[in-house]
Amino acid sequence: MKVYFLGTGTSQGIPVIGSNHPVCKSSDLKDKRLRVSIWISWENHSFIIDCGPDFRQQMLISNCPKVDGILFTHEHSDHTAGIDDIRPFNFKQGEIPIFGHQRVIDNLRRRFEYVFATVNKYPGAPSIATIEVKNNLPFFIGNKTAIPINVMHGTLQVFGYRIDDFAYLTDVKTIEESEVLKLKNLKVLVINALREEAHDMHFNLQEALDFITLVQPEKAYLTHISHIMGFHEEVQKKLPSNVFLAYDNLEIII
Ligand SMILES: [Zn+2]
Repeated sequence: MKVYFLGTGTSQGIPVIGSNHPVCKSSDLKDKRLRVSIWISWENHSFIIDCGPDFRQQMLISNCPKVDGILFTHEHSDHTAGIDDIRPFNFKQGEIPIFGHQRVIDNLRRRFEYVFATVNKYPGAPSIATIEVKNNLPFFIGNKTAIPINVMHGTLQVFGYRIDDFAYLTDVKTIEESEVLKLKNLKVLVINALREEAHDMHFNLQEALDFITLVQPEKAYLTHISHIMGFHEEVQKKLPSNVFLAYDNLEIII
């Protein structure tokens, strides 16, 4: 299975519009972060997790040829705002299944009413089939099983996903013991780490590192990173040997 990091930045992306912060001014490509999303592919299967406002750009940069389904973690705009741009895939493939908590599907139905229209739907509008994800109920994506991992983003429920020995968790602040048990024997864990300072809704760097120590994956990659975290090169030097700062367009094979 190939995991391609389409975006690794927090909600504003890096550089932040109008910012003079040194990280926003950095010429290192690893300091340029689109909004978080990954593309996972194996054999002839191709899925993405989240579909934020940079989706179009991410599909062009990564040369992703098709999307068999989109797994949503939660409804925040940095994870969902790109849904209108799935249309080129619709024109080639037909409707695309989207997986998410019922609350997330309901939220998308309100915000993207035209996508869900059943009467007089505009012919060029995005075309989706919704599939509700429920906790403790694994589901199929292609010929693999996705296991939902229930986490909390402040007071908002969010799903992470485990596929084989790989797990992708973003926007985590707290997680119950019963969910941590679903993360045993991982080859790769992706987990959010916003910055060094504490935040009400996100793990900071130390919380992410403590979580990695608890879960004990072979390797861990940090994502959903703020410019305030610092320069990629400098932060990477401070991390344990099995922990890596993810960056846009990084590809890993699991
Ligand atoms: Zn987010």
